[in-house]
Amino acid sequence: MSKKRKIHSRSYLMETYGERNLELVKGRGVYVYTKENKKYLDFGSGIAVNSLGHCHPKLVKSITNQSKKIWHTSNLYFNEKQEKYAKKICTKTFADKVFFTNSGAEAIECGIKIIRKYFFSKGLRKKNKIITFNGAFHGRTITAISAQKNLKYSNGFGPLLKGFEQVLFNDIKSLKRKIKKDTAAILIETIQGEGGIRPVELKYLKELRKICNENNILLFIDEIQCGFGRSGKLFAYEWAKIKPDLVAVAKGIGSGFPMGACLATEKVAQYMTLGTHGSTFGGNPLAIAVGETVIDIISKKNFLINVDKTSRYLWKELNKLKNDFKEILEIRGAGLLLGIKFTIPNNQINKIFENNKLLTICASDNIVRLAPPLIIKIKHVDEAVRKIRRSLINYNN
Ligand SMILES: *Cc1c(COP(=O)(O)O)cnc(C)c1O
Repeated sequence: MSKKRKIHSRSYLMETYGERNLELVKGRGVYVYTKENKKYLDFGSGIAVNSLGHCHPKLVKSITNQSKKIWHTSNLYFNEKQEKYAKKICTKTFADKVFFTNSGAEAIECGIKIIRKYFFSKGLRKKNKIITFNGAFHGRTITAISAQKNLKYSNGFGPLLKGFEQVLFNDIKSLKRKIKKDTAAILIETIQGEGGIRPVELKYLKELRKICNENNILLFIDEIQCGFGRSGKLFAYEWAKIKPDLVAVAKGIGSGFPMGACLATEKVAQYMTLGTHGSTFGGNPLAIAVGETVIDIISKKNFLINVDKTSRYLWKELNKLKNDFKEILEIRGAGLLLGIKFTIPNNQINKIFENNKLLTICASDNIVRLAPPLIIKIKHVDEAVRKIRRSLINYNN
């Protein structure tokens, strides 16, 4: 047990999250509050989850209304709202079919099952290897830690699953060397999140699509963190003007309600027949009510245009900071998923930001990540930039 714990003398929780001294009890829009009513500007959104901020009035209304009707019906029963919501998602994307989950890792699991079943059903039973990238993060299940091949997450949890191979991110030669007859799919994040806010080059993503087409390989994109509007388009891969075969979504899709989905084309989803997959809670009526409202708001004219505008402004302002402070080495990322690389250890700078009432999140490669709610306005960007500037001036004095 951590000696420094200040809030609780003894915790009954497994100690997987380390020391946590900040307790947030209320959220409104882009701000969160402690019991003492201390106000923080939330540029973390959980971890890129609260896409529409905290307690968005329309979401509160949707979930409240639904909570008075019915909370749960098994997926054994027809659910018209679920159908309608799935159709809405498909109409706006490449997808023909949706499977609802409760989390990101489950959406990844679902996608991997679909890929394996697809080639199995086509009689290509040996075509079952999936290529992933160094720095990838796909979740915490045994499958996800096997896929991402990162000791930080997998050490001590062996034996890991077979069937995954890894290549260098944004490196076409490294990828081409690994492509074999038994390659079934390529699994990639459009913007690596935990790996350090590393965007895939659009040219590279286009090349991946081409390689997949030429070799009968499926392209499975993980947009759990960067998707659902965060890039300024509904999905970040849209910037490359390509179409994937499968996409995993979660985090922002529910703006704080735990939900996720695996999207796929009819071609690959056709073998997911009666009894091949399931989830007790996936596509729960409460989740559907929230999810439908989220997508309706994000799809409104100007919503994504605004995300694009504010993100470009944030990018510009962060680069000004970079010119002013030698502690900033690099600004990277895309849309409202940006990383600042510091010379100072990221956990230290993250804490200084917190002391200045700005919440951010660490990522690998000494990155401090900014993932504000998509509803932020220019004035919130200005406020965040002021807080960063003040933090760095404090640090230097
Ligand atoms: C968070 C995340 C996951 C895992 O999602 P969970 O909901 O925590 O299971 C997978 N992939 C990416 C890119 C993520 O950011």
